[in-house]
Amino acid sequence: MGLFKLLVLILLIVAVMVLWRRFQAWQKTAGAEQKPALMVRCAHCKLNLPENQAVREGQHWFCSSEHRDAGPHD
Ligand SMILES: [Zn+2]
Repeated sequence: MGLFKLLVLILLIVAVMVLWRRFQAWQKTAGAEQKPALMVRCAHCKLNLPENQAVREGQHWFCSSEHRDAGPHD
């Protein structure tokens, strides 16, 4: 009976370690997904769009390469 209890204890420790690692990996991906996309404004047409979809030219952001070529508009 003592050996059986030891086996159960070892399995329990391994299970906790596996779950803990999965939890840490899940926390990392969840944190990355929760990060909001930074919104920028096109310097030409004033359209708001996410930074990863915008085109950057110096200090200005543009919604498309066409508006980047057209330049800032005030
Ligand atoms: Zn634009």
